Amino acid sequence: MGDYEVVRTDEEWRQLLTPEQYAVMRGHGTERPGSCALNHEKRPGLFSCAGCGQPLFQSTRKFESGTGWPSFNDPVEGSVATTVDRSHGMVRTEVHCARCGSHLGHVFPDGPPPTHQRYCINGVAMNFEAD
Ligand SMILES: [Zn+2]
Repeated sequence: MGDYEVVRTDEEWRQLLTPEQYAVMRGHGTERPGSCALNHEKRPGLFSCAGCGQPLFQSTRKFESGTGWPSFNDPVEGSVATTVDRSHGMVRTEVHCARCGSHLGHVFPDGPPPTHQRYCINGVAMNFEAD
């Protein structure tokens, strides 16, 4: 991992996160689709990183993708960074928190207007605060 503002040891991550969060956020795992209640969250509010609290996505940018994962048009500016993920025989764009480096999900160029981006994010990687 590169130079992140928030740096924790593996032991600290294990203490901070649940086992499922750790598997997703530090092990680049994927939660079972439809398994996270945040997928159904429709109230106005803000989704933030479960690893460091950084604001990631506004509820106004959330849309129902039918995938079973919370999906967004675009992130809070500067809140996420991407890498090329060549795992599982696919080339995908991996999305992680720009502040602590935790894996969040992937972004695909098949979303609705206006950005046509689909940020497909693991619900367990985020906390939600209603307005
Ligand atoms: Zn973070």
